[in-house]
Amino acid sequence: MKTYEEALKLVLEHAQSTKPEKVNLHQAINRVLLESVKTNHPLPPFTNSEMDGYAISIEDLATASPSTPISLTISQTLSAGDSSQDRHLPGQAARIMTGAPLPEGSDAVVPQEDVEASEGFALFRAPATKGQFIRFAGEDLPAGSIVLNRGERLRAGALGSAAATGITKLSVAKRPRVALIATGNELVQPGTELLPGQIYNSNLYTLQAQVEEAGGEVVKTLTAADDYESIKTAFEQCCNCDAIITSGGVSVGDKDYLRPVIEEMGHIIFWQAAIRPGKPVALGRIGGSLILALPGNPSSSFVTFELFGRPMLLNMQGARITSRRSIPATLTADVNHEPGRRSFVRVLLSFSGLAILATPTGSQRSGMITTAAVAEGLLIIPEHQTGARSGVRARVILLD
Ligand code: AMP
Ligand code: MG
Repeated sequence: MKTYEEALKLVLEHAQSTKPEKVNLHQAINRVLLESVKTNHPLPPFTNSEMDGYAISIEDLATASPSTPISLTISQTLSAGDSSQDRHLPGQAARIMTGAPLPEGSDAVVPQEDVEASEGFALFRAPATKGQFIRFAGEDLPAGSIVLNRGERLRAGALGSAAATGITKLSVAKRPRVALIATGNELVQPGTELLPGQIYNSNLYTLQAQVEEAGGEVVKTLTAADDYESIKTAFEQCCNCDAIITSGGVSVGDKDYLRPVIEEMGHIIFWQAAIRPGKPVALGRIGGSLILALPGNPSSSFVTFELFGRPMLLNMQGARITSRRSIPATLTADVNHEPGRRSFVRVLLSFSGLAILATPTGSQRSGMITTAAVAEGLLIIPEHQTGARSGVRARVILLD
């Protein structure tokens, strides 16, 4: 049985099928950037005002005070988008709006709230500091700088930064093509009536959403019966996918055919990890497809996808960071934990002052569906720890 780290390492080593494609900026959200983005011009491109106010020369206001205000002539008005301006001369103030180019010769902006203006004159009651409320060309980034690094997963702000360089397309990783295969004679699709012994195929829906959130594209969803041939046929139908993620049938029951089928059609890379829930998880390969076989219990499927499936898909996309963020938190209730396996407890998070509290979402037995529905994090109880009592401090993997 692999430790969590050993299993994850194997997953990452085998998940490396990054191929690039060019997409428009508005299609690039959540995609992984494969070519860094540089700006050819400085950001901002020209020196401009940070406030609505008056562009002045600080020398003119050196002696200004509430009792000895200084009056300057309003020489011109500059709005955002204006391209030409008159040179600033001593004794003048230019009315200027946020984003308008600063007139040459001025060296500060005084916000309009601090100025009394009437009939072509502006009155100042305090000196100004050189450079105040000015955004200098290249202050954000000089020309030639890298704006976005390769390997970054593109969020909203990153797309805006890319657009600020003037480009329209980005080189991103192709979305891994993923097939999902649920196994189980007991499974029926939602929308049909449940007969005795049947349950709805809920994992398929959870997994589809998890795959898409991790940047994968679900190109096929299949449900196979618990027999060797059905599972084999299902794999055959998915042979052109980058990854095949299965649920169920990977444990030690009489009808758990996943491993023998993978072994016949390809090979197993590992089976079983010292984690709870989700011990029976397996990794394998059939042809060009990496196979991640998850246990069928809904919580096990959910957690093992988080632990291995998400990093697998992000690594396939060349992401620099393939793990979720984690934070320290305090457990608020006792949880069952036997040493030897690393537990991942589904928790809700709350604050008590500055402390972060982690409260188990309910029964941590792996068959429970609804405990994953509300979970905000997975609290990690290390292998060597005996029991996990209320008050214990632990790391929590944030689920979003
Ligand atoms: P297995 O891993 O196939 O032994 O399944 C373990 C448990 O998970 C059984 O109670 C199954 O009925 C249940 N299960 C398996 N697959 C699914 C699924 N796709 N949706 C919901 N529950 C499932
Ligand atoms: Mg089963």
